[in-house]
Amino acid sequence: MATLFDNTLKRLIEAAEHLDLDPRFLEKLKNALEMTQARLPIRMDDGSTKSFLAFRCRYDDSLGPTKGGIRFHQQVNGDEVMALALMMTSKCAVMDLPFGGAKGGVMVDPHSLSNMEHESLSRAYVRAFAHVIGPDRDIPAPDVGTNEKTMAWMMDEYSTIVGKRTPAVITGKPVALGGSLGRDDATARGAYNIIEHKARTLGLKRGARVAIQGFGNAGMHMAQLMAADGYKIVAASDSKGAVHAPAGFDIGELLAAKLHGGNVTSMAGSAGVSEIPGDELLAVDCEVLVLAALENMVHKGNAGSIKARLIVELANGPVTPEADEVLKAMNVVILPDILTNAGGVTVSYFEWVQNREGDRWTLDQVHARLKTAMEREADAVWAYAREKNITLRTAAYVLALSRIAAAMEALGTDKF
Ligand code: GLU
Repeated sequence: MATLFDNTLKRLIEAAEHLDLDPRFLEKLKNALEMTQARLPIRMDDGSTKSFLAFRCRYDDSLGPTKGGIRFHQQVNGDEVMALALMMTSKCAVMDLPFGGAKGGVMVDPHSLSNMEHESLSRAYVRAFAHVIGPDRDIPAPDVGTNEKTMAWMMDEYSTIVGKRTPAVITGKPVALGGSLGRDDATARGAYNIIEHKARTLGLKRGARVAIQGFGNAGMHMAQLMAADGYKIVAASDSKGAVHAPAGFDIGELLAAKLHGGNVTSMAGSAGVSEIPGDELLAVDCEVLVLAALENMVHKGNAGSIKARLIVELANGPVTPEADEVLKAMNVVILPDILTNAGGVTVSYFEWVQNREGDRWTLDQVHARLKTAMEREADAVWAYAREKNITLRTAAYVLALSRIAAAMEALGTDKF
């Protein structure tokens, strides 16, 4: 069976067919630049010792130091980390950021850790990979299962190792420690900027019904932004199940249910709200489906049940290439991950710039620059899609590849 990495590489190879590319560039991108694995032994609160498997993959650095999050999840594995690092390489290129791509991960269920164990694991990660990361080499950030607290511990550990305060080694930090304003909802806001910018082209009207798969940081912020602008959130799911409100949720109640009840299903029983099995969320009657959970959630087996006309990929790799084909035949438009969820890494870039300049930008400055960047690159992706008559996903990969190839070319043949 094709792995996530196989599927990701396949998309890049398909995109290459639409460019007049020196085959050596693509050949180089078939393998990661550097893949490091480590074992992180942690003293648990009960006095026992547990060992966790950890990875950091720097996929390609043609465009600059590598950039990408660190995931804490029980299903983390080398193939997934490498695939996500390749997606980051393409994502940074789509946004025209001066970064290559990377990703890291620890195979652990973060919910099983106490606060102190989470801190020990975060610090152990940095001790194991301190020789890999650095503000000019590889800059981590949050991903699934990690948050600003994780980033704070990691930055502190790295600063201790190198003997100087080094905020630019990691992004997504708390604002009190050099994090950027606007980083917390940047992934959702970036996607929303594109939706608003392209609403007319997409035939989208405010008031449209929206279903959200995955009610974590990105999914919750997306629900908030869309509801505030008049869209109707009619379904939401998380790891425990899903809830459906055909007339639309009271967004305040839904967010409170998630934040205080732990899961969206704690909303079930309220007027007009019913609980449905998690996998039925995809089939809910709506115009927009936001995928904000994990990779491979929409596959050949369930793509046909989707009713939405527009899919917004807030997660990385939520739709398999086989499902892409099914959805294309159904005329469903997909706003692809490497463009659509790139608001997160874009504001991470802003954070890195602020740290290096010793500066702080206002929230308005961050929002304005994010909007400009998202609209600019969305226009570039749409232009390729029209010109070459290809999907937005392939167009995004074409744009990414053309920029990576230009950097490789400029670096000279001796780099091969
Ligand atoms: N983990 C996020 C992503 O997948 C953010 C990466 C970053 O900010 O470097 O895009």
